[in-house]
Amino acid sequence: MHEIEEVADLRTEQIAQRASPSLTFADLLTLRDKAAQRVDEGSAGVVITQGTDTIEETAFALDLLWSARAPIVVTGAMRAPGAPGADGPANLLAAVQVAASPAARDLGALVVFGDEIHAARFVAKAHTSSPAAFRSRQLGPLGWVTEGRPVIATIPARRLHLTVPSDANVPPVALVRLALGDDGRILTTLPSLGYAGAVLEGFGGGHVAPATVPLIESLAARMPVVLASRTGSGEVLSRTYRYPGSEIELLELGVVRAGALDGLKARVLLSLCLAAELAKHQIASAFEMLGPDGGPATPGAALLDGAAHGKATTSRPSATDGDCGSRRAPGTLVDSTR
Ligand code: ASP
Repeated sequence: MHEIEEVADLRTEQIAQRASPSLTFADLLTLRDKAAQRVDEGSAGVVITQGTDTIEETAFALDLLWSARAPIVVTGAMRAPGAPGADGPANLLAAVQVAASPAARDLGALVVFGDEIHAARFVAKAHTSSPAAFRSRQLGPLGWVTEGRPVIATIPARRLHLTVPSDANVPPVALVRLALGDDGRILTTLPSLGYAGAVLEGFGGGHVAPATVPLIESLAARMPVVLASRTGSGEVLSRTYRYPGSEIELLELGVVRAGALDGLKARVLLSLCLAAELAKHQIASAFEMLGPDGGPATPGAALLDGAAHGKATTSRPSATDGDCGSRRAPGTLVDSTR
């Protein structure tokens, strides 16, 4: 595509050729390192192309793992190359235009689809086949690409960076959706299956059936348990309902509130918090930092050191492109508030 060559001087590299459901966190750590290397060598931005099925998870994981100022832009295609109206070439061109644009700096990982620019944290694949499958239900796209020009119209209040070393073990985290009439017996099996954490997608504002409460209590005593909502939009409540199985009672049992993250995003965050060896209260802080009232809306960064278990300090975000997550000490959590 000669249009792309007019936008940027591209260097390409294939990391894997697999359907996206077979990608792993280890693949993402490799990808993060390769992208960081390219930025260190002078690239203005990085574009990742992959199958669309897992983009909502891979892009958010990269967002958490990425602390360079250069953008990392994920895209793909909903239609096969030979299909009428194939969207791959246009998505790729727009992704390159965004990655090369100064407007996209400091925004972390973005997903570009159908000339829309989405924050990795909010975007989801919301349709099985539509070329407009990628949507940010909570707030819409951050911007768009018009006549080849990327426009950023709104910027999320804060991002979170987790330092996870390249060779980190990312422990297994279960994602369990609660459903009508289910007594939750699957929860009793999670520890013996080797799970290190669990995300529960509760009903509505974060509720479960009373029969499951003792199971959740004993699970929360053994591993971090995060409560998300199966509605996929809005926040998990914190002080509205008090009854057996309500959000207030679950939070009193030590369950961590996912805030406005859906179950898939919450699972990515919990997995990487565990990989960063954060203590339980730090995991709760990480979820709070991504919440709507998660910290001061002034420039700066809150830093929690996992190794020191909770010693909190404040520092300025680094202004160097080379400041990628792989180089900080293991167990460091940085909230880059904009
Ligand atoms: N199944 C494909 C995947 O790997 C779908 C796609 O290529 O978009 O995600």
